[in-house]
Amino acid sequence: MFFRVPVLMQFLFKRRIWRGKDSSAVYLTFDDGPDKDTTPWVLDLLKKENIKATFFCIGQNIENNPSLFRDIIKNGHAIGNHTFNHEKGTDTKRTTYINSVNKTEALYSSELFRPPYGRMNMFQVSKLISMGKKIIMWTWNAQDYKKSREHAQIIDKAKIIQGRDILLFHNSKKSAENMKKSLPEVIKIVKQKQLLFKLLD
Ligand SMILES: [Zn+2]
Repeated sequence: MFFRVPVLMQFLFKRRIWRGKDSSAVYLTFDDGPDKDTTPWVLDLLKKENIKATFFCIGQNIENNPSLFRDIIKNGHAIGNHTFNHEKGTDTKRTTYINSVNKTEALYSSELFRPPYGRMNMFQVSKLISMGKKIIMWTWNAQDYKKSREHAQIIDKAKIIQGRDILLFHNSKKSAENMKKSLPEVIKIVKQKQLLFKLLD
């Protein structure tokens, strides 16, 4: 897998949103929370850095961590839907998948949706778009969840970040170490590039 998603892939899956609109900004996103090991830490850092981000939350984790979920909202961040049980779309029947999205929607309504693993089939894409969802992908993936990834590599790859990029980090136990060691440096590099941090719209 690549840090930067190839342009060809973005072209092949045109109905999904790969980049933000503002070339003077990047869009920071966190998948898989709320999570007690990482979300409070991220909220503190973002407050200190005066940055708003978008959290693509798993329904089951919202149910398990309701006060943490409220903290994300209270801090002015945006929420997106990331299914209820982190189903991989390509391994899941359409009705099961849509039910999972709706079950999460019942906890918090958002037009933003991100497919777990970035995987869904064309029928699921069509259905979600017809339901008014924006399918949000990413252009730069920290791969903070990978055991083989060194945080120094993540920081090094931040050099290629450019305007309109959607940046992907995770709020989960397995991403905790890499995320905590790299995110502050990545933020610093983005600020040095004179890029703003914006919410997805
Ligand atoms: Zn995920």
